[in-house]
Amino acid sequence: MDNLKQKIIEFAKKDGIDLIGFAEKARFDGIEPQHNPFAIFPEGKTVIMLGKRICRGSLRGIEEGTNFGDYQLFGKNWLEDEFLALSAYNLTNFIESTGWEAVPVFPNPSDLGPSGVAVREGVPAPNVYPDFDYAAVACGLCQISYNRIVFSKEFGSRQRFHMIITDAELESTPLLEESVCSGCRGCADACPLGAISKTETEEITICGKTFTVGKINYEICKTCQNGAVANRFSANSVPDRIAALCNRSCMCSLEQRDALSNRFENPFRTSQVWSIGNATYSADTSSEKANVLGGVFSKSGNRGH
Ligand code: SF4
Ligand code: SF4
Repeated sequence: MDNLKQKIIEFAKKDGIDLIGFAEKARFDGIEPQHNPFAIFPEGKTVIMLGKRICRGSLRGIEEGTNFGDYQLFGKNWLEDEFLALSAYNLTNFIESTGWEAVPVFPNPSDLGPSGVAVREGVPAPNVYPDFDYAAVACGLCQISYNRIVFSKEFGSRQRFHMIITDAELESTPLLEESVCSGCRGCADACPLGAISKTETEEITICGKTFTVGKINYEICKTCQNGAVANRFSANSVPDRIAALCNRSCMCSLEQRDALSNRFENPFRTSQVWSIGNATYSADTSSEKANVLGGVFSKSGNRGH
């Protein structure tokens, strides 16, 4: 199987995948069936996580405060729905051409509850949406930052993932040991709405690794005009905070510490930081609005099953 794993890695890299990691089934023992990928494919043996970077340039317009739309295309919707989806599908077909089944899984928000009823006793109700943050850690690619965003050592917070579950038994990638988040609380300091606590923390344990994360008031984040984007699938789910001021400020600190392997000639932050701190603003968090730019799904945001 080592030979197959190597072929999978080579295929993925040639197809433009930036990050690839593998995790055996036992690494998902700690997750409930509703968010466990093996509830979708019980005969599966391995989860493969495929990541593509969010290019730093897609965040430039938001950093300058002059263009908010292109991030939603190149950094979010197209990246998930087109670029990554095509690579995941190509790899799925490659794996199946070797005689192993491969189940492609889209990064739906796992905090959404089931939308159907269980078809028999002992199985979770559809849809099972695997926890991608858990899987990114289990596949040795990421850690959970204080800002509750998964960080890789290559790009920090700048990546998105698709998943493949296969019945091929492939050796797990070692867990990421090196700490990317320093715990500096710069993200909390940067938030103009005080949504991240510097003192109230929680612990998240995945595959024996424990991450200390700040308590975040996502109801405040849903009103944030500083680069946060409403969740396009459900207004009830947490917003996308990659481009928000908290995380863009963190990006700068990671670069200043030279913590990432994706380096740049010039610093990300070159202009005066802007922020809108009016917490009384009521953002339109409807999934209809969230789907307008580059969304390919129903305007109701309901993906069905
Ligand atoms: S700003 Fe500091 S504490 Fe917050 S996520 Fe980044 S490195 Fe971690
Ligand atoms: S998304 Fe906005 S409100 Fe939420 S933590 Fe980041 S900057 Fe603060």
